[in-house]
Amino acid sequence: MSATAAEPRRLAAIADRLAAARETRTPIANLVDEKLGWTDAYGVQELLRERHERGGDPVCGYKVAITSAAKLQALGLAEPLCGFLCRSGAVHDGVVSTAELIAPRIEPEIAFVMRAALAGPHCSIVEVLAATEFIVPAFEIIDTRYLKAPFDPISSAADNVSSARHVVGSVVRRPTDLDLSMIATVVSRNGEFVAAGASGSIFGHPALAVAALVRVLARHGRSLEAGSLVLTGGLVEAFNVAAGDAVQARFSGLGEVAVRFA
Ligand code: MG
Repeated sequence: MSATAAEPRRLAAIADRLAAARETRTPIANLVDEKLGWTDAYGVQELLRERHERGGDPVCGYKVAITSAAKLQALGLAEPLCGFLCRSGAVHDGVVSTAELIAPRIEPEIAFVMRAALAGPHCSIVEVLAATEFIVPAFEIIDTRYLKAPFDPISSAADNVSSARHVVGSVVRRPTDLDLSMIATVVSRNGEFVAAGASGSIFGHPALAVAALVRVLARHGRSLEAGSLVLTGGLVEAFNVAAGDAVQARFSGLGEVAVRFA
């Protein structure tokens, strides 16, 4: 981590490069050589967020990534990575155009829809469950704006944690209707099994990923607004997708979610 904070103009230039990479689908080198700290990385993410909002593309929620103790330990991280979701990233017709993305990957997730706002540095699982309206099955489609390189968490945070698209299923459940720590998922592509996962792999309970998000937001002077959608982390390893692929995930007690790539 860098000892000194990068100056605002340099962070703005990095945000410009990341935005151009996304818009032109031309990946760039990661930011390791920039020697950014966490405050810098989330500062770049904040500039990207402002750019979306200025362009009439409001933030509709958040994503949480690196959501297990083992993954955090492997990367030497103290907390998960968090990014924002934009309205333009919502897939409503079940089709994602690969021509709009660089190298899309997909992962099934459990998403929370918040009924009440949450804020502060000590958010607990009890508060998260009380503030949750619904649980819904989801896919996140990620698309790093970086050239292939060993994963760098600080670069990823600056790149809004590879956020690209999100799809939610039609089955919604109240958080009290099922044991959120015991939801199984089976993922298939073009009718063939890809992987299986379980909600307990998210910190033992996916609401803990929401609590972690609220704590990260608190440090950056933000809160989790009512109505937000929160993706709580991949339940299986993200995998590559290409035009022509149809991907489906079935969740125990939570229905299914499906998406096609064109
Ligand atoms: Mg994810």
